[in-house]
Amino acid sequence: MHALYPGSFDPATFGHLEVIRRGLAVFGELTVAVARNLDKSAIFDLEERLAMLRESVPPADGLHIVAFDGLVVDYCREHRHSVILRGLRNGSDLDYEYQMANTNAELADDIETVFLMAGAEHSHLSSSLIKEIARFGGDLSAFVPESVAARLAERLQTD
Ligand code: ADP
Repeated sequence: MHALYPGSFDPATFGHLEVIRRGLAVFGELTVAVARNLDKSAIFDLEERLAMLRESVPPADGLHIVAFDGLVVDYCREHRHSVILRGLRNGSDLDYEYQMANTNAELADDIETVFLMAGAEHSHLSSSLIKEIARFGGDLSAFVPESVAARLAERLQTD
């Protein structure tokens, strides 16, 4: 089965990398799909978000990293993915993801959304918190791969 893991990845954290590693182990084929268009709080453009993932995720058979825009269900249909993979950290993720999974099910009832619970070690990690820590010069080494930490430091120095 080929699953699609869509997200903003602005930037990728160790939490995202854990979902990728475990998702690939479950499904055998996993495409990580980076959303082209983000809201105004985004700090990295599409090329940077793709590059950080490619630099941080060890290459593996069955693993692909792509960009996408438009509806996730349209991308799945076009590329014959039958599963959308998402991660769950806490109750607020659940509220949001429940709404989105049901909306996607109404748009495409042949595509199933499957969730992986974040491991205890990574359940507190979020891209937005990491951007806050980076703005104040905090140590990011426990939260994001080196490539991401370097780009965050560089970005905030030039801001
Ligand atoms: P989006 O804007 O689509 O929510 P994100 O990059 O913020 O994109 O998240 C993509 C997916 O990864 C979401 O399902 C989110 O819940 C999940 N995720 C984010 N951080 C973590 C984490 N630390 N552990 C597990 N899943 C996570």
